[in-house]
Amino acid sequence: MNILVVNCGSSTVKYQLFRMEDEDRYEVVARGIVERIGISGSRLEHRSALDTFVEERPVPNHRVALELVIAALTSGKTQVLSGVGEIDAVGHRVVHGGEKFTGSVLITDEVLEAIRACADLAPLHNPPNILGIEACQELIPGVPQVAVFDTAFHGTLPEYAYIYAIPYEYYEKYRIRRYGFHGTSHRYVAERAAKMMGRPLEELRLITCHMGSGVSFTAILHGKSIDTSMGFTPLEGLVMGTRCGDIDPAIVFFLMEKEGLSAKEVEEILNKKSGVLGISGISSDTRDIEDAAPHNHRARLTLDIIAYRAKKYIGAYYAILGGLDGLVFTAGIGENSPYIRKSICSGLEHLGILIDDERNTVRRKEALISRDDSRVQVMVIPTNEELVIARDTWRIARGMG
Ligand code: ADP
Repeated sequence: MNILVVNCGSSTVKYQLFRMEDEDRYEVVARGIVERIGISGSRLEHRSALDTFVEERPVPNHRVALELVIAALTSGKTQVLSGVGEIDAVGHRVVHGGEKFTGSVLITDEVLEAIRACADLAPLHNPPNILGIEACQELIPGVPQVAVFDTAFHGTLPEYAYIYAIPYEYYEKYRIRRYGFHGTSHRYVAERAAKMMGRPLEELRLITCHMGSGVSFTAILHGKSIDTSMGFTPLEGLVMGTRCGDIDPAIVFFLMEKEGLSAKEVEEILNKKSGVLGISGISSDTRDIEDAAPHNHRARLTLDIIAYRAKKYIGAYYAILGGLDGLVFTAGIGENSPYIRKSICSGLEHLGILIDDERNTVRRKEALISRDDSRVQVMVIPTNEELVIARDTWRIARGMG
């Protein structure tokens, strides 16, 4: 089965074409990204086993982007399909599934309508996801299209973990609550962690740390998400590339008054100018901060804050899980930064977390990085959200026929 996995952002389309025999036997036959959709300098970067190319040309919208992707898959030097008819199903990453979707679903008219209804909750993310779905329905007609939601894995959060302490009527009126994100990633690394540990997921207490440009930690009890650091939006929780994470909400009103800013302007500051970028004043990329740290106080401070806040979340989740069997690091920073992993774990020896410095040098591959005498197994596991989407799509598409 040829499954196209599509992830549409506001100005990008990322995609992978999977050839799947079953859930465990698969090959990624092509992948790529269309960037700068709707702005100047749009480009497609496409890779297949046969060839790689970069094409710069105007891409005014997501539909044109997907036309280019299909052309790259079905013609020229990178051709891996004889025609669009060889695509058997399409899996879409959808950011927000609201309270309605706690698992992946076949996209019907009714489902698409419900995804549209969630756009209010994710105004930056769901609209491009919808454009991608609509374009694929037109360009790849008559095949199952499946939606896989970032929020779905957190559908198991108990009510006391997702209700905020604001007037309850706002939950009733607007569904303001904790949703959590990165669910596909947390789910994937939790399953891999159980395999690495050689134990059933159903008996494990795990904390999964997704640390990329967005950062979220999740407490997973017996395979179910019971709490997660991102909330109503991806702004809550840990320190991120440009997002502030947890702050006193009163800061918002204080800033509006002192700086004469609108709500929109403060939102922009907290989303785009805060976090690693805001504290350091150097960059949103932790690589730059690690480089600058030896001679720059604010760079060192940034790294200290990242580690300190991460420790606080690990401690909190340790408490609610009633102990801990595995701690997982994933995504850009989690997979690549021995320094940040070490600085998060050091000082947590009393929780049974003992890092092995030699093992911790690993980058971008599955590895145990704790010592043999560590009560908690600490692991690096590269995330693979596309594979989860492909597998869910495969399962749902097969179930249909
Ligand atoms: P996204 O959330 O955009 O998918 P990624 O998971 O790719 O992001 O993570 C991107 C971030 O990972 C970068 O901003 C950078 O801070 C961090 N990163 C990537 N490689 C390294 C590295 N070798 N060392 C430290 N940080 C890294």
